[in-house]
Amino acid sequence: MVAPEDLRELLSDPYRVACPKGHTALNPAERAPSAYCRTCRESYHAEELVDRRRGPDPCEPHRRGKD
Ligand SMILES: [Zn+2]
Repeated sequence: MVAPEDLRELLSDPYRVACPKGHTALNPAERAPSAYCRTCRESYHAEELVDRRRGPDPCEPHRRGKD
């Protein structure tokens, strides 16, 4: 999940944000806190997107998503 107010900043970092299926070919939406996945050909709201932070997050013992 990505905070809507952080989405645009995170999307400027390549490969930082992924769609729920793990793709990083995302285009930010112009006027909404969402992004379009060019691989899925679908738009996702910020809260559906995944912040792929480098390294494990100690505050989040259970990582969601499959490898
Ligand atoms: Zn996708």
